Amino acid sequence: MGAQTRTVTVKYQSPSAGAREIRFGGRDFVVIAGPCAVESREQLQAAATGVKAGGAVFLRGGVHKMRTNPASFQGLGGEAFKFIAEIKAAAGLPFVSEVTDPRQIGDLAAVVDMFQVGSRNMYNYALLAELGRLRTPVLLKRGFSATVEEWLLAADYIVRGGNENVVLCERGIRTFETTTRNTLDLNSVAYVKAHSPFPVIVDPSHGTGRPELIPPLSLASAAVGADGLIVEVHPDPARSLSDAHQALDFAQFNSITEGVARVLEATGRTLARL
Ligand code: PEP
Ligand code: MN
Repeated sequence: MGAQTRTVTVKYQSPSAGAREIRFGGRDFVVIAGPCAVESREQLQAAATGVKAGGAVFLRGGVHKMRTNPASFQGLGGEAFKFIAEIKAAAGLPFVSEVTDPRQIGDLAAVVDMFQVGSRNMYNYALLAELGRLRTPVLLKRGFSATVEEWLLAADYIVRGGNENVVLCERGIRTFETTTRNTLDLNSVAYVKAHSPFPVIVDPSHGTGRPELIPPLSLASAAVGADGLIVEVHPDPARSLSDAHQALDFAQFNSITEGVARVLEATGRTLARL
């Protein structure tokens, strides 16, 4: 017995193929991949080419980063906008990036096809209300100390503004367990599928914080019924300016999509392809 999942459609332009769409919440499982942060034109270009070859249909990359330590790299900000537009157009991939402040929405809207609300901002109701005024899809991450009910109510802040295009993202919660960066709560994915109308994807990168655990948790996410994944992949993981400890290389990423395709096949579903 499950709730009917609403379909969230992301529309984007592919220079070679024209107007295209990616659907969350349908039969296809959507894999989003890319670096934690956009670091340079060369890095994003290499990441886009590598994740596309490895089966991703959506590119990620933080422009405005919410770093716990204010002395850490905070993202390139607006400096990155010009080359992001070129790179995503050349790759023919839609792009998702985090909005950390309502004042960023106008500028970011020119380069993103979906806004990401990060874990630290799930309770930022002014930001959620602003995103509710748009029709651009929103990827709403679960707060790391949020109950499932609080997360679903946060989604309602966006929906009540008139924007029904909300995709949830389980990214792990803080528990007594410190072996892993977070505790990836796959219960929540099964619960959301059974009791809410929202598509839900999983972030096994922040959910585990350990590269060797990202492949098995990706397979488990597909098996539990998630609508997709968002994975951190870097052309040179050891040199990542943020979250280097959990960044995967292209070969590791490619083996995840191959494994996920097999799990999906066994459950009558398919990997979204371009
Ligand atoms: C991210 O996806 O880059 C990120 C910062 O994740 P979270 O908000 O889940 O910590
Ligand atoms: Mn990260």
